[in-house]
Amino acid sequence: MREIGHFIGGKTVKGKSGRFGDVFDPNTGEVQAKVALASKAEVEEAIANAEKAQIGWAATNPQRRARVLFKFLDLVAREADSLARILSSEHGKTIPDAKGDIQRGVEVVEFACGIPHLLKGDYTEGAGPGIDLYSMRQPLGVVAGITPFNFPAMIPMWKFAPAIACGNAFILKPSERDPGVPMRLAELLVEAGLPEGVLNVVNGDKESVDTLLKDPRVKAIGFVGSTPIAEYIYSTGCAHGKRVQCFGGAKNHMIVMPDADIDQAVDALIGAGYGSAGERCMAISVAVPVGKKTADILIEKLIPRVESLKVGPSHDPQADYGPMVTKAHMNKVRDYVETGIKEGAKLLVDGRNFKLQGYENGNFMGGCLFDEVTPNMRIYKEEIFGPVLSVVRAKDYAEAVRLPSEHEYGNGVSIFTRDGDTARDFTNRVNVGMVGVNFAIPVPLAYHTFGGWKRSGFGDLNQHGPDSVRFYTKTKTVTSRWPSGTKEGAEFVIPTMR
Ligand code: NAD
Repeated sequence: MREIGHFIGGKTVKGKSGRFGDVFDPNTGEVQAKVALASKAEVEEAIANAEKAQIGWAATNPQRRARVLFKFLDLVAREADSLARILSSEHGKTIPDAKGDIQRGVEVVEFACGIPHLLKGDYTEGAGPGIDLYSMRQPLGVVAGITPFNFPAMIPMWKFAPAIACGNAFILKPSERDPGVPMRLAELLVEAGLPEGVLNVVNGDKESVDTLLKDPRVKAIGFVGSTPIAEYIYSTGCAHGKRVQCFGGAKNHMIVMPDADIDQAVDALIGAGYGSAGERCMAISVAVPVGKKTADILIEKLIPRVESLKVGPSHDPQADYGPMVTKAHMNKVRDYVETGIKEGAKLLVDGRNFKLQGYENGNFMGGCLFDEVTPNMRIYKEEIFGPVLSVVRAKDYAEAVRLPSEHEYGNGVSIFTRDGDTARDFTNRVNVGMVGVNFAIPVPLAYHTFGGWKRSGFGDLNQHGPDSVRFYTKTKTVTSRWPSGTKEGAEFVIPTMR
């Protein structure tokens, strides 16, 4: 059986803990590799390597650091096909979707290539007599990222690219379910000229995460994953004096106004609800048609589209989406569908018993569509993270704004309308972090920032964009006086610039 180890000190090393996790092939349900689960000692070895390497890396000027990232981009482009194949074979998303996963990560690396410009500080000349004031951004030291299974290329790149561009050393703890791409990205960074030890990958579970959370040499933690773990990591990391940002689960609504282009809205719901088998933090899982007429037309058009979704092996170029990441996850999603039926929601399309010929043991599930879902139901309140769309009928616009605003999650939301006044009012009022107007998956581009509100995001700063530079640096402010010889005698009051 193939073994996946760690990447420490610039090279791939075998796991020494004797503990392993299974990496499945979601198409067949079989175990395709064993991934080492790091011990505390192995994580500490990675931290020690990172701490040593960080000093020289921070002293490397930002332009040279950017050149390594430029070269890395070339190498990722060279390997795009093979990276997409590895990603698709471990996660189960289709090859074009896997390429999108890589591309959205690449865009943040491109952003981080602008680091010489991004790190420029502020300067005030003549703040007082002979006094100049300036600020600079300095790296934190060793920082860590803990990432989820559903974007094994994009989210690691969102984390490590700005962090290392700022002059930090990085420890990545990727999801143990699909570690192949993060390991390959680390090798490519070293090939691109990144000094050994600046980026380390430790594969593992709670033991490695807890070591990172408690070790005083790790100055900041960036996490993406489910909300219960986000809350644990946020509170434990903060209690250990670290800078922490955590991004959690979601329940993204799409409001369909009576004046919307219904066909466009249906296309958007099908793509954003079922793409990647619904395993996206920005997937639309709740459709909110406004008014009975809108709801009836929407449902009528959705049913045949959900019934005809093409579910296939992840390498099938014709497939709309592939298998789910693991059997355990698929069973959890199926249980939610059962819960929805018991709660009284109307299951219009039932994809639970979908079987793919030749792949009977794969983690395949057809699309499910619920109507008459209400806010008190578990299938509305909780994140399902599968190919299940719930329709919650709103009687008017006011109710449609209230639903996502009052939901405990606040990651993404969108509205489909032809009315500018409604769109503007909605974007201003809705209590959610990322909003789309006639746009179903409003993932901001790399030079803006990404982050949800309420129980979808913990911490002050978002991911990528200008916030990432703030998160991975600390500001130092210098007040200097030249010529230095001015004699004013001892001052006993707080200095002012008079
Ligand atoms: P997860 O929370 O199970 O795992 C995320 C990471 O935490 C993994 O690296 C995992 O090894 C680690 N982990 C798991 N249990 C832990 C524990 N008890 N202690 C310490 N570490 C632990 O999430 P997942 O299933 O990999 O990913 C899916 C979730 O991620 C969904 O909830 C999805 O909405 C969310 N997500 C959010 C965003 C966002 O930006 N808000 C983006 C992508 C995914």
